[in-house]
Amino acid sequence: MDFSFGAEDEELRGHARAWLSEHLVGPYAQAVGLGGPGSEHEGAEVRRAWERELGRGGWIGQGWEADGWGNRRLSLTGQVVWAEEYAALRAPGRVGHIGENLLAPTLIAHGSPEQQGRFLPGIASGEELWCQGYSEPDAGSDLAGIRTAAVRDPADGLYRVTGQKIWTSLAHDADWCFVLARTEPGSRRHRGLSFLLVRMDQPGRVEVRPIRQMSGTSEFNEVFFDGAVAAEVVGAEGDGWTVAMSLLALERGVSTLVQQIGFAAELERVLASYAARAASGAGDPALRERLVRQWAELRTMRWNALRTLGAADGPSGAGGSGGPRGAGGAGGPRDAVDVGAPSVAKLLWGGWHRRLGELAVEVRGAAATAGPALWAPGVPYEYGLDEEQRLFLFTRADTIYGGSDEIQRNIIAERVLGLPKEPR
Ligand SMILES: Cc1cc2nc3c(=O)[nH]c(=O)nc-3n(C[C@H](O)[C@H](O)[C@H](O)COP(=O)(O)OP(=O)(O)OC[C@H]3O[C@@H](n4cnc5c(N)ncnc54)[C@H](O)[C@@H]3O)c2cc1C
Repeated sequence: MDFSFGAEDEELRGHARAWLSEHLVGPYAQAVGLGGPGSEHEGAEVRRAWERELGRGGWIGQGWEADGWGNRRLSLTGQVVWAEEYAALRAPGRVGHIGENLLAPTLIAHGSPEQQGRFLPGIASGEELWCQGYSEPDAGSDLAGIRTAAVRDPADGLYRVTGQKIWTSLAHDADWCFVLARTEPGSRRHRGLSFLLVRMDQPGRVEVRPIRQMSGTSEFNEVFFDGAVAAEVVGAEGDGWTVAMSLLALERGVSTLVQQIGFAAELERVLASYAARAASGAGDPALRERLVRQWAELRTMRWNALRTLGAADGPSGAGGSGGPRGAGGAGGPRDAVDVGAPSVAKLLWGGWHRRLGELAVEVRGAAATAGPALWAPGVPYEYGLDEEQRLFLFTRADTIYGGSDEIQRNIIAERVLGLPKEPR
């Protein structure tokens, strides 16, 4: 695949830069650089308005396999160009990415025309925000252990959902949640689950309790459903596992490249911090070597992502293997290396980003420990950790969410290398 930028991309670049410069004014100028993982508490209101601004500009849903919902479709290189310009101007961290990148492509693949017509415009306009209700206290890596149940009410034909979800990112800001729940009483593992769409604004039936993280902020939550009404079932009833796995597979693709644009900016900051330290006579050859290695690994990840994208021919098929989280739709007609590719990518970027967080504070030395105590009851959420401290703390999560390192290694061991399963 040719991944160089052509004349059309350069034209788009000019247009994207002009649009962003024209719109990042007034209240949005204050939101420049705010938000993103570890900083979701920053400027939540203004970033929500910014999401609608992006929607009016048609910038949401560039990578969808369908248009006509208010989204402008762009080529892969076009999406990268947009992301580069977005990062260069430090435009506000997106609040609608779960709906845009996870739910919408799933609806396009599995939803009915009515469901697409109902939900895609709200995502494309930035009006409706979504969260992901998969994990439960006893169902994380082993997602098939889900216990949240949904029972169809014969009176109105709608499902009533009861159970608990956990680690639900941005549930406190979301209008809707896609929930994986057991709709066949007595069913086991990945059978009998359905993929439901639940409105969050159901007082007394949906309760969101923030979980405070060690960074002091609260980006994920516990969500309790007590007879909450599910508006829709996506895909066939009882076939929610297929839909859920297909959604997990979407976490790769062009978003990996876009993510690397953010990583590169963070690495630049750490390099600049080291350069300042070295200039004051406190250079450290061991640290210097690790920084160089970090840079080289990012280049390798970029080439890897380009290669994977070049091999991609649209969204992958759904899984259904009953495997653990992170299986990413494995089971389709792809070869073993292809099955392992998302796991390799997750292992690489998760570990890389965590090491960058460590380097960020090591480069700063003792100064990185300055500031308030990390966690203390009663201390307000926004207590002023700086960017490097937040990077260090938040990147501890990178090797957990989206399928932990151990789970990715299990997938590679069992599905790619053909090693025997570990006793459970
Ligand atoms: C920042 C963040 C945001 C998140 N956002 C969401 C969200 O929006 N929605 C959502 O549904 N979930 C979300 N999650 C949850 C995430 O998907 C789970 O944390 C993850 O799947 C791991 O599950 P768990 O936490 O239950 O850990 P467990 O599954 O209990 O694992 C605990 C430890 O045991 C290891 N382990 C488990 N099984 C095996 C095995 N078979 N072999 C070897 N080792 C094993 C794991 O690797 C881990 O180290 C988020 C998590 C984080 C950290």
